[in-house]
Amino acid sequence: MNPFILAETNWKTIKDQRIDLVVLPWGATEAHNLHLPFATDNIMVEKIAQESAREAWSKGARTIVLPSIPFGVNTGQMDIKLNINLNPSTQFAILDDVVDVLNRHEIYKFLILNGHGGNDFKQIIRELGLKYPKMFICCCNWYQSFKNSDFFEASGGHADEMETSMMLYLTPDLVLPLIEAGKGHGKKFTIKALNENWAWAERKWSQVTTDTGIGDPSKATREKGEKCFNEVIMKIGDLMTELSKADVNNMYK
Ligand SMILES: [Zn+2]
Repeated sequence: MNPFILAETNWKTIKDQRIDLVVLPWGATEAHNLHLPFATDNIMVEKIAQESAREAWSKGARTIVLPSIPFGVNTGQMDIKLNINLNPSTQFAILDDVVDVLNRHEIYKFLILNGHGGNDFKQIIRELGLKYPKMFICCCNWYQSFKNSDFFEASGGHADEMETSMMLYLTPDLVLPLIEAGKGHGKKFTIKALNENWAWAERKWSQVTTDTGIGDPSKATREKGEKCFNEVIMKIGDLMTELSKADVNNMYK
């Protein structure tokens, strides 16, 4: 029983437990090229949340990880079979209810750990901040906590070398042989600014890629995944530790 995982712990332990920070992992249920499972984002974000909390706990931070939310924003992928979409307004409703619970129990620090590119919590956090002024709410995209090129040869973003390596490390039984994977070729926009990322539009996923992947997974290995995973849990573990120890009334220097 891990005391930092709410789903594993119990009321006997929790009722008198000091809790500094609550973490909600948030993923998505969607096709990941031909070779990775639909739960790829969920598996990765939950493992990262739990193992990072173990790091934080070992440094005295009392961080509790909630069960993860398995559906994300997939509005650009509704023509891909069984990609499940949760609208941003639904995400707001879920977060409003979760934050209400934390606020009532005077647990004022909350981290949303995100594992899916279509999820964007910033604006939701701004609005929740107005409603719950005592709360300090923070979000983190774990996949931005490291430099892709430090670990991997190919970049991409979806079912790419990074995600495939991570899954080969975490749940190898759920990864098809790489020979069965698509090439993950993703088309670019025809408009320059959209490719330079200083203008933004949602991508119609099925027009961008034929195998649902973006990024060549062929050089993925378990070893690369293990190295990257360990880097990520150090980084996120430090974030959880700092958040746990932070004074929400004194956040600036
Ligand atoms: Zn993914």
